Amino acid sequence: MVDRRDFLLGMGAGVGGSVAVLGTASMASAVVTGEVAKQESNTLYEEIITMPVDDSHCHPLTEQDAKTTPDQFLERISLAAMPAFAYFPDGVFDQWKTGDAALKHTLDKKYGIKAKMDEINYHFSESVFAKYMVKEMAGFLGCKPDIKSVIGARNERGGNYWGYIGDMFRDIKLENAMVDTGYAEGMETQGILRFEKAIKPTKVRRIYRVETIQSDLLELDISFEELETRFLQKVRAGLDGTANYGGKSYGMKSYLMPTIGVVKPLYDADVAKQSWAELKSESTYEDRQAESLAGKDLQRYLLTLAQEECLKRDMPMQYHAGDGEAPSIILRQQDPYNLEEVVRFDKDGVMRMPKIVPIHAGYPLVGQAAWLSHLYTNCYFELSIMTPFVHQGLLQRYLQVMEAVPLSKILFGSDAYHVPELYWLAGTWGKRYLSQALGVYVHNKLLTVDEALEAARMILYKNNRRLYNIDA
Ligand SMILES: [Zn+2]
Repeated sequence: MVDRRDFLLGMGAGVGGSVAVLGTASMASAVVTGEVAKQESNTLYEEIITMPVDDSHCHPLTEQDAKTTPDQFLERISLAAMPAFAYFPDGVFDQWKTGDAALKHTLDKKYGIKAKMDEINYHFSESVFAKYMVKEMAGFLGCKPDIKSVIGARNERGGNYWGYIGDMFRDIKLENAMVDTGYAEGMETQGILRFEKAIKPTKVRRIYRVETIQSDLLELDISFEELETRFLQKVRAGLDGTANYGGKSYGMKSYLMPTIGVVKPLYDADVAKQSWAELKSESTYEDRQAESLAGKDLQRYLLTLAQEECLKRDMPMQYHAGDGEAPSIILRQQDPYNLEEVVRFDKDGVMRMPKIVPIHAGYPLVGQAAWLSHLYTNCYFELSIMTPFVHQGLLQRYLQVMEAVPLSKILFGSDAYHVPELYWLAGTWGKRYLSQALGVYVHNKLLTVDEALEAARMILYKNNRRLYNIDA
């Protein structure tokens, strides 16, 4: 328990103008209870709530969630259910989803699909995140704070789904959405263009994923030289032309780290060529890790080509770091420190330092991502997935990030997918807990009010525009 006198001293009461040093226990307890710097936080919040937001990592939306059920809605958000098909043999989950009652019954009997999905939903619905989300949505929709009422009210808005989405985007003042087209639920160019048009005046800025470019090519029976030529053509057409689903790109994204762990650049074409030959001849693997490492050198080589193209254009490369998407990927390979060699991007003994953005805050390895960014000036820090998923914990996490990362390198992001509420929750909670975290600094005189407000502007939108060379 924290003694009240210690607590007040720890908060700087009576310290008279000097920077107060907070006792660790007092600080932790006071931060958790939200008692720190309430007044300062509230003052900052009044200003911060009016600021625009750029979402530096997010995904396009379809209309398939315009009408939903409580179970479906939770399943679409739950990371434990993503991807749900991975829990069952190939193709079974899709058959079950789209099949008639008889087929569903047969598949359920054999694979227990409904029971497994119910179990996932049950636990997700009992998370503090889900309970808090329901209350927030009830506030936005003006209904009772329970999941049935919330989904009922949401379905009423589903008749004009893009209008509903627009209201949410306006509420958080979303101006630029840096959309990773590499996860787009099978949306083709028409789907992405439709999303882009429907969310105006919010602007879509495309991020082109390396794996999107290479996946078709790796299916082909072509020589290594042909593969390299076609890959480079596609990269250039996506960065400079409209090959990224009908538009130009502002940067790229790599999903390689979850696949191979340590990501080292590779310049030797012979090694890559050998790897391509092995990949084509191999068909069975000992386990999922061996399968995931197949073609590792080829992928390192293609990534290096893409990274060079970004460097030439002063474009950033986002790297998936931390986070999940279990059961499909390998969690233990996602340490942000595995990115050190691409951050350096050494060639001929010289560090070239392209703009690198480990995304998802490296969550849960937030400290490693923050420290990598502290040490390498060309390495940035991006807040998605952690925002919104750790909800109230964002207060402590934002303090943890700001203790190491320059304010000029922290980027707001949501990783919103499937449903617009993830955009909205991230924007809403991002502003709320950023105000609280900055309030702690103002209260303790680490930052002035003006510095704290400028920090918020940088994190919420200015850094994104500077990094991606966006004019407005
Ligand atoms: Zn993402």
